Amino acid sequence: MYIKKVIIEGFKSYREEISTEPFSPKVNVVVGANGSGKSNFFHAIRFVLSDMFQNLRSEDRGALLHEGAGHSVVSAFVEIVFDNTDNRIPVDKEEVRLRRTVASKKDEYYLDGKHVRHVIVLFKTEVMNLLESAGFSRSNPYYVVQQGKIASLTLMKDSERLDLLKEIGGTRVYEDRRRESLKI
Ligand code: ATP
Ligand code: MG
Repeated sequence: MYIKKVIIEGFKSYREEISTEPFSPKVNVVVGANGSGKSNFFHAIRFVLSDMFQNLRSEDRGALLHEGAGHSVVSAFVEIVFDNTDNRIPVDKEEVRLRRTVASKKDEYYLDGKHVRHVIVLFKTEVMNLLESAGFSRSNPYYVVQQGKIASLTLMKDSERLDLLKEIGGTRVYEDRRRESLKI
């Protein structure tokens, strides 16, 4: 499984809809002048995939909306298209689309065009579990290696590194579910 395409509209420096060419499953390189939107592009990806940006306050959401002289937008979206030909995301589809939309008062998710009801708990169980079982860690998004991250990985305690490996392997979500089911 890999990210095949990213579509962005109205998010930070991206006013008009942009859509990337299909990515290679191997290495892709993003280049651009200073201030051209490289970091915003990765922010957009994390905005959809990580739970670091849940429970945003209205002003936080506002900061994500494109603002330009006379061209401010009232809503934005980021859509990630996964190539799922290896069925790593446990659904029987070759392509899975996850879109998050944001406006000053709204913040919603769509999975394959279908609205996922905006209840954070529900989102976590439906979408985050789906992502996590495909190896996307939600609390510790190692798939975007930010500055300083390599150092923190080497300095982690063994138990923390084991937790991370469980997340990468996509098994932690099942442990969580097992723990939940034993509570009942
Ligand atoms: P560098 O090479 O310096 O790291 P970069 O390609 O990573 O640059 P970004 O940080 O992604 O660039 O983009 C910065 C630009 O995005 C700035 O010009 C900033 O004004 C613009 N920007 C950030 N938020 C918004 C917003 N809400 N509306 C419009 N523009 C924005
Ligand atoms: Mg940058």
